Amino acid sequence: MSSPTPASGTCLCGAVAFSVRLPTLFCVHCHCSMCRRSHGAAFVTWIGVPRSQFDIVQGEDALLRYDSSEHGWRSFCGRCGSSLFCENQSHPDQVDIVLANIRGSFAPAPQAHIFWDDRASWTVVADDLPRLGGKSGTEPVEEGG
Ligand SMILES: [Zn+2]
Ligand SMILES: [Zn+2]
Repeated sequence: MSSPTPASGTCLCGAVAFSVRLPTLFCVHCHCSMCRRSHGAAFVTWIGVPRSQFDIVQGEDALLRYDSSEHGWRSFCGRCGSSLFCENQSHPDQVDIVLANIRGSFAPAPQAHIFWDDRASWTVVADDLPRLGGKSGTEPVEEGG
């Protein structure tokens, strides 16, 4: 189909709603310590889309922004705390979106584990996806003990 149905998502409380038009640029599991802390989870699954394919449908005024680095920030719902988006000045035309907040049957296939060498020691992953890491978080890394 030339114009696929948009996927839609919300935060936990529903104050913030957004839509995403396909296709995505990527879908990855991120093991960096910032994702781990901000979500309280072992790792976080992100999709990236061009900004032109992304819209906040409601609740923009409920979004709070945390500058998580000198060039990047994370947005979350000020009412329920759901982590929603991550943006970076180094690629301003792209928005990263937490896959878990998208509703319905939208199910892109994760392509890789990134920042694998930053993962929590108690993380156990049994899939065959590439493990990437290093300084950029996306370089091939050796599987080590
Ligand atoms: Zn919310
Ligand atoms: Zn991360």
